[in-house]
Amino acid sequence: MSKRVTIVHSPDYANWFFSSDHPTQGRRFINGFNLIKGNQRIIEPRLATTAELARVHSAGYIHEVTKNHSSFEWSGAREDLARFATLFAGGTLVALEDLLNDEADLAIHLPGAKHHAQHDHSSGFCVFNDFAIAADIATKDYGLKVAIIDFDAHHGDGVENLTRDNPDVLTFSIHESGIFPGTGNSDELEKNVFNFPLSATSTGLGDRALLAGINKFIPIARAFQPDLLFITSGADGLADDPLTHLQYTVEGYAEAARTLAKAFPNTKKLMGGAGGYLPDSGTPEVWAAVAEQLAA
Ligand SMILES: [Zn+2]
Repeated sequence: MSKRVTIVHSPDYANWFFSSDHPTQGRRFINGFNLIKGNQRIIEPRLATTAELARVHSAGYIHEVTKNHSSFEWSGAREDLARFATLFAGGTLVALEDLLNDEADLAIHLPGAKHHAQHDHSSGFCVFNDFAIAADIATKDYGLKVAIIDFDAHHGDGVENLTRDNPDVLTFSIHESGIFPGTGNSDELEKNVFNFPLSATSTGLGDRALLAGINKFIPIARAFQPDLLFITSGADGLADDPLTHLQYTVEGYAEAARTLAKAFPNTKKLMGGAGGYLPDSGTPEVWAAVAEQLAA
């Protein structure tokens, strides 16, 4: 690895646990961290502050999670999960800070990129929208421009909604058409919103379709001239993933990341793990392959 790489990580992430048969399992963060090779700076996450969460979330919703410990994602009060949700947001902000302080060229936070979280409610296992908060800080406090490429299998609807009115943020989502959340079928050029929906009958569902999306993103993002590139590296497009029908391979993900790294060699990058429902095999393998290419 030639780039300076920071990974924000805590062994405690293993305890993000709903139930043994729930799709999202905290151990995937541990497995992914253990597979990522190289000589990285490893730092601990911190809790996001109420003021940070309030950049994109309503006061009532923040109170509901952080004080009442409740969310649509779970039933009853789960103080442990509410704390993790806040820690996941703060962890991404720690990663961002390493980029802003020029401590790293690539900052990785595997529990980051909770791209479905909305202004006043959670969605799709995502409670707080860390990438939208990080983009708000980078643009409004530092005067930077942020491009967000999302190749999680699902449309990055929360990030799109929460950044659409910020002219210094561009979003581009490559996702399977017709599955949750059902949006992301068109572009809004005046909002710097781009979508690349994939289907069996139009684009195909495999690595070539993923690469076609990446190659469409690159000239659009170059014209936008971002200072930071956020990568929503969901692993749930992998062929065996139980929640989707995409047919990506680990090598396809690596090629996508290699293509992005070559296209933006000097742009600082923030990688979030987003989705991935093969906690002991495919999900950590994808994350490690993407991280290796982005760090090269
Ligand atoms: Zn997903």
